[in-house]
Amino acid sequence: MPRNAHKIILLFTSILFAWACGRPESKKCTYIDLSWPFDNDTVYWPGLPSFTFPEVLDTYAQDGFSMFTYSAAEHGGTHIDAPVHFNPGAWTVAEIPFERLISTAALVDLSDEVAASGDPNFYVTPEHLENWEKVNGPFENGSVLLIKFGWSKYWPNKTNYLGLKSIPKETAEWIVNQNKFYGVGVDTASVDAGNANPLVAHQILLKGYLYNMEMINMNEELPGTLRKKYSNHYQKNINVQ
Ligand SMILES: [Zn+2]
Repeated sequence: MPRNAHKIILLFTSILFAWACGRPESKKCTYIDLSWPFDNDTVYWPGLPSFTFPEVLDTYAQDGFSMFTYSAAEHGGTHIDAPVHFNPGAWTVAEIPFERLISTAALVDLSDEVAASGDPNFYVTPEHLENWEKVNGPFENGSVLLIKFGWSKYWPNKTNYLGLKSIPKETAEWIVNQNKFYGVGVDTASVDAGNANPLVAHQILLKGYLYNMEMINMNEELPGTLRKKYSNHYQKNINVQ
């Protein structure tokens, strides 16, 4: 199957996947929303203000239209960590060049290995990423690295979801040193383990001007696992660009 048929296009601010298409507007694309809804169940770290949607400003009955306010801490639910989060003066979310927010993505699915290990401190190693490349070919320049620990199944149970899966220092350095990635996404609450101090992966990735995507919803079957299933379909029907 042509390598480009594996291309995934990632869109923000609603984090979407599309695959098997050259252009997002193509009718041949299938989209997957990787965001969790913001509601009373949205996961936040302890001590952070949760998502609240409390105040009605206008109602249909009185005003002819409805309008509300909401409030929340930044770092809960599906969200981006901009480089400025750990790198003063670096890009805010608005300053991340837009073309870096629409890119191909590589899914590294470690969920089976995490489940088999039973290790609460499971972390992704450079060897995991190098092994991915042995199977799939080199990571593409200008892509986003998605790491699936299989943790979305615990959403929104805070006790189980706020865990210790992580990108350790050596892996974060490996990712930055590739000089290929625009960002890194995880299906956990943080790129660092919940008890990490200091937050080394944050420091390395964000100082490298990558952005993090945390609390991604990866419960859907994603293109990395659909690749074989749909490969014939790709070859017959998709004009790969
Ligand atoms: Zn964050």
